[in-house]
Amino acid sequence: MQNLLDLEPAALVQWLAARGEKPFRARQVSRWIHQRLVANVDAMTDLAKPLRASLANDAEIRAPHVLRDTTASDGTRKWLLDAGSGNAVEAVCIPEDDRTTLCVSSQAGCALDCAFCSTGRQGFNRNLTTGEIVGQLWHANRTLQAEATTSAAEASSAGPLRAPITNVVMMGMGEPLANFDNVVPALRTFLDDNAYGLSRRRVTLSTSGLVPWIDRLRDECPVALAVSLHAPTNDLRDRLVPINRRHPLESLMAACLRYLDRAPRDFVTFEYVMLDGVNDGIGHARALIDLVRDVPCKLNLIPFNPFPGSGFATSPRERIRGFAHALQDAGIVTTIRKTRGDDIAAACGQLAGQVHDRTTRRLASRAAAAAH
Ligand code: SAH
Ligand code: SF4
Repeated sequence: MQNLLDLEPAALVQWLAARGEKPFRARQVSRWIHQRLVANVDAMTDLAKPLRASLANDAEIRAPHVLRDTTASDGTRKWLLDAGSGNAVEAVCIPEDDRTTLCVSSQAGCALDCAFCSTGRQGFNRNLTTGEIVGQLWHANRTLQAEATTSAAEASSAGPLRAPITNVVMMGMGEPLANFDNVVPALRTFLDDNAYGLSRRRVTLSTSGLVPWIDRLRDECPVALAVSLHAPTNDLRDRLVPINRRHPLESLMAACLRYLDRAPRDFVTFEYVMLDGVNDGIGHARALIDLVRDVPCKLNLIPFNPFPGSGFATSPRERIRGFAHALQDAGIVTTIRKTRGDDIAAACGQLAGQVHDRTTRRLASRAAAAAH
């Protein structure tokens, strides 16, 4: 059975061509799946009957199964999704006045072991497939659209609704660039006019700094880039973000500059989690200003979201404000991220799902330490 959610637009053209179908059929099928959000080939009423019958035989539209659906007091909604063999990942929907953002997971767990991250703490099980990544957006749009459409009559008189999700951020569980081969086809599906049709500026990928893969993303599918910085010096970053031992700050900053040649936005977003007494002093702010001076960027300060046993505390509000002011005074556009959904553990870095560690995490940190 071919899961059609696994096929990016070009792959769907090829798959149908192998069955003697013209490219316009792929565009039709794509619109049925990603725009009209059907779950069943039988619903594709404008396809010739024999094609529908053959698709019904060997193709399906299969998104991850929802294990739990929780809504926070601020409207943030979290879906816990089955990732097989006892693993589960999370997708988080964040409604705001002018947009609705879906935070998408790319891996069951993460091998990179950042000190302050609850996903990293759980270790790594496996990469999600393209279908599991695209399936998160498909499911969110389908669910929200169905909820917005109170009756079939209303739907037909109003015509097709606009897709509810307007922005996608690859900031859920996992390091998206460590699953490049499945993530890039998913990004292409998010962007394609016959699928979700999102502009490159509305799709953001966040990475902890896998330098060679930042370059590949630039060449193959540039979308808005966010980089998890979290420390202004190699010494400190080596401890907080262990991948820094392999790709230190100098090479990361150089990769950001190269990315900007092709990026859909003319800046990189640097994420910086505010950890009480660890990286939030005025000296850190000064070092950070020096570090990013030559890179067109915006700084996004993230108040640390605690989870049990993390060993870190959130910086006091006043210190975060002082840190932001120091950066702003140096001419760096700086925002403080509003914490959303923390009463259902849906805030940044709290996503834990359920991961059966396959010990890659310990291996990765040992390898990184050895390379140091
Ligand atoms: N692996 C990617 C994307 C997922 S994490 C990355 O690291 O960039 C999304 C953001 O949340 C990252 O900036 C990450 O460092 C941050 N984060 C992780 N744990 C956090 C926590 N406990 N509190 C606040 N932010 C956290
Ligand atoms: Fe992985 Fe990102 Fe968490 Fe680091 S912060 S462990 S890269 S998910």
